[in-house]
Amino acid sequence: MDDERLDAGPFGAWLVATERSIAGEADSDVPCGSCTACCSSSQFVHIGPDEHDALEHIPAPLLFPAPRMPAGHVLLGYDAHGRCPMLRDDGCSIYAHRPRTCRTYDCRVFPAAGIDLGGDADKGLIAARARRWEFGHPDADDAALHDAVRAAAAFVSEHQAELPPDVAPTTPTQLAVAAVVAHREFVERDAGRVTPARPDVRAVAVALGRRRVR
Ligand code: SF4
Repeated sequence: MDDERLDAGPFGAWLVATERSIAGEADSDVPCGSCTACCSSSQFVHIGPDEHDALEHIPAPLLFPAPRMPAGHVLLGYDAHGRCPMLRDDGCSIYAHRPRTCRTYDCRVFPAAGIDLGGDADKGLIAARARRWEFGHPDADDAALHDAVRAAAAFVSEHQAELPPDVAPTTPTQLAVAAVVAHREFVERDAGRVTPARPDVRAVAVALGRRRVR
C-alpha cells in the first residue's frame, strides 16, 4: 500500500547519524527498498571536483557547471520525465560510484523537520514517501530532540530574511538540513534532560555558518 507507514527508527539515533552524514563523516543509511523517488523528482545532483570516482562513471555531456559555485563544481541534470539519466529500471546504474549528494540524501529529513513537500509538484514522489516515515521516540529526550529540529525549521523559515544570504536556505531540502544543523541551539541540558531553548537569530546564523548547508 502506498500510504503504509514506514519505520524511520528511533529519532535520536537518526539525528546522530544524520549529523555525521551532513559533516561528511558517513553515508546515509536509508532503508529505500525499491523506492527511487529521489532519483525521479527533477533534482539536480551536485558533484564536487574531488569526486573523481563519480565523475569517471558519468558521461561528461550530462554534466554542466554549477551556478554560483567555484570552477570544477558541476551538476547532473534530469530528463524530460524528471529522472536522473543514470537511473535504470532496476535502480541506479552507478550505485557503487554515485555522487556524494546521493550518498547523503535522506528523505526522512522532511518529517524530521516537520516539512511537507506537498506544494511542490515536481517533488510529489518524495513528498509521498516522506509522509510515510514514522519516527520512534523511545524516551522523552527523543521526543524533545524531534521538537527541537521542528522548532529550528520553523524559526529559520520565519527569520529567513534576517539571516546572511550565504547561510539562508532557499529550498525545502536546505531548510530541512539547516534545521538539523541548528537544532542544538534549540535545546538545553537540564540535569541531563533535554529541554527547549529559545535562541536569537544571531546564534542560529552562527550555527548555520559553522556548517554551510549547500
Ligand atoms: S546518480 Fe544514481 S543515486 Fe544519484 S540520482 Fe542518479 S540514479 Fe539516483
